[in-house]
Amino acid sequence: MAVQQNKVTRSRRNMRRSHDALVAANPNECPSCGELKRPHHVCPSCGWYAGREVIARGDEVELDEDAA
Ligand SMILES: [Zn+2]
Repeated sequence: MAVQQNKVTRSRRNMRRSHDALVAANPNECPSCGELKRPHHVCPSCGWYAGREVIARGDEVELDEDAA
C-alpha cells in the first residue's frame, strides 16, 4: 500500500477540496407539457423529446383486448 511521505496540512487539504462543491442542476421547461426537465434528456413526465413523443406513457397506450 502506498503511504504518504508528508502530512497533508489543513490548508492543503482544504485547497484540494475547494473544487469538490456540487453545482446545482439546470432544468429547462418542457415545451410539450411545461414540466421542468433536464436539458438534452427525454421529458420524464410526458415522454417527449425534440418535438415528438419517444416514450409512450402507460395510460395513453391503446390496448387491443382481442390481440392478447
Ligand atoms: Zn414534458
